[in-house]
Amino acid sequence: MSDSQNLIKIAYLYEDLMNTYGDSGDIKILSYFLKQKGYQVQVDNISIDTPSFNAFDYDFLFFGGGQDFEQTVVAKDFPRFRDTIAKYIEDGRPFLGVCGGYQLLGSYYKTADGTVIKGLNILPFHTIFNPKNRMVGNTEYDCEFGRVHAFENHSGCTYFDDTKILKPFGKMIEGNGNNPEYHTEGMRYKNTIGCYSHGPLLKNTNVAKGILKMVLAAHAKRMADETTVKA
Ligand code: GLN
Repeated sequence: MSDSQNLIKIAYLYEDLMNTYGDSGDIKILSYFLKQKGYQVQVDNISIDTPSFNAFDYDFLFFGGGQDFEQTVVAKDFPRFRDTIAKYIEDGRPFLGVCGGYQLLGSYYKTADGTVIKGLNILPFHTIFNPKNRMVGNTEYDCEFGRVHAFENHSGCTYFDDTKILKPFGKMIEGNGNNPEYHTEGMRYKNTIGCYSHGPLLKNTNVAKGILKMVLAAHAKRMADETTVKA
């Protein structure tokens, strides 16, 4: 394999601002599995000091959770990446957003103090704080990759605005997931998955292996695209 064929490129969105809940563990686990398969892994922190960003230069986009304040800061910068991320998602390339990183793909997140944090409005859902209580605790659910054990810690309740487009990622056994009413966890649209699962999520190796397959397929596609451009 040539160097570029052997190199998996991961864009970690705002890792420096949105990693309060240890979601960087997802990238560590994914990198471990990729290295076991003989790949090299490059992880770029795409943040407020990144001059420009083309999502199609990457095989996987990851966005973890954060606190409301950091989300407000990130939400001000994030729109400059909207176009490339929307095209990447629509093209079926893999994106995993956890909690705050999930919320910011929707239209908005209204926090407990009434602040409306605008999302990229790429996918039809919105999030509103839970007036009763913050949702903190263990979660258990079934998804396409099998049983998942995770941990949630959020005040935002996510509601789908178009159930034809968005499908729930998981069916709850324990905990809240999207909100206390749906009994579902997260959403799936093409190869984009959003969820409230910390823990980190990919300690569930069944999910890690499912995501790994998506990443390798995206890598093969990117390599094919590069060959077409060069030819
Ligand atoms: N700040 C958001 C909320 O409380 C997201 C939290 C998180 O990322 N865990 O809903």
